[in-house]
Amino acid sequence: MKVFKFGGASVNSVERIKNLTGIVKQYQGEQLVIIISAMGKTTNALEKVVEAFYAGKKEEALQLFEIIKNQHLTTAKYLLVTHYNACAAQLNDFFTEVEWLLHDKPVREFDYYYDQVVCAGELLSTCIISHYLNQEKIPNQWADVRDIIRTDDHFRDAGIDWHYTTEKATQCWASVTASHNILITQGFIGSTDENESTTLGREGSDYTAALFANILNAESVTIWKDVEGVMNADPKKFPDAQLISELNFNEVIEMAFYGAQVIHPKTIKPLQNKGIPMYVKCFLDPSLPGTVIHKKNVKNLPPIIVVKENQLLVHLNSRDFSFMGEAPMQQLYSIFAEARVRPNLIQTGAIGVQICMDDKQDKTEQFASMASTLFDVQLEKNLQLLTIRHYNEPLVATMLEGKEVILTQKTKETVQIIFKI
Ligand code: ASP
Ligand code: MG
Repeated sequence: MKVFKFGGASVNSVERIKNLTGIVKQYQGEQLVIIISAMGKTTNALEKVVEAFYAGKKEEALQLFEIIKNQHLTTAKYLLVTHYNACAAQLNDFFTEVEWLLHDKPVREFDYYYDQVVCAGELLSTCIISHYLNQEKIPNQWADVRDIIRTDDHFRDAGIDWHYTTEKATQCWASVTASHNILITQGFIGSTDENESTTLGREGSDYTAALFANILNAESVTIWKDVEGVMNADPKKFPDAQLISELNFNEVIEMAFYGAQVIHPKTIKPLQNKGIPMYVKCFLDPSLPGTVIHKKNVKNLPPIIVVKENQLLVHLNSRDFSFMGEAPMQQLYSIFAEARVRPNLIQTGAIGVQICMDDKQDKTEQFASMASTLFDVQLEKNLQLLTIRHYNEPLVATMLEGKEVILTQKTKETVQIIFKI
């Protein structure tokens, strides 16, 4: 059995959905679990709906949601003939679920409402695609993944209940394979034991694919993207970025850690743990080889460049000239955990520490105010963090031309440099 994951860009139009169908047809006869994201930028649009709702602008929220509804109904109309009515009825159920909520007044935390509304994107896209595949004689079973993936109630970053999820996913797959070869379900979403919807973090569909692969012992996972495969740098910023045809799990974990937007960072562990290879392939040209990520060692990797924008350097200094020993460091790490801040780089000195992190306004303020109970705090904003794995000195020199370097950290494998924009 194989797991496929199709991201938002691969289903953002009627043509793209037909293209997906073409790809699935090439695998006819094989057992497939197909995980699909929301269409195009639907998740962003749904975020706007929740923001309006939470700001008390009910009419605006409903209007914004109306646009999303119409987009999906239009797509369904273009694609479906025989299966249109059944699909529209199912879409309407999802619309109603959201609209009911939008008619209420917000009384709980924002993140709760976020998940109840934003989860609709994946439900709508999979509903249309499942009906279309059935119409095109690719019999498949649709499932609401909220009946399978059980999570805690950490809304917007929910943690998986592996025990329950394993049981449900196994049961679901057994019942699917009794009559079909293909299961179609949603990425990114799950549900608590109280049937509240949850989400797994933006771009979380990759992670869902890895969960299913792990639980069902898939032979492989394929992530279908609009790029050739994994590149050694972001092609939008570096036009001569090159394809990396083979990577091992460790390298990808490192890349994700340093901020490369290859795949969702949580995706690798479930695959690595069971030695399940992941393919990153281009849905625009499935004949291209793409990238394989597996457990084999890979030698001679090119330099891998990751740029993180909008960075903040926090300078913390001890107030009384005491050393940055174990005690203050321990307190600092508790603050990271409590404020849910993930440092991108830490440089420790005798009486001070410098921490580079993403500059997210609310988080930054929260962190700075918590840290200020223990240290002198200074913030340096508008920075970039450049990470190069497998670097060489000439490349580093070229990349730094004309830049004002604030801090550099080097190991044998990796160099990280913070500079002013
Ligand atoms: N639709 C969600 C997002 O845009 C999840 C995903 O695409 O993986 O973040
Ligand atoms: Mg996506």
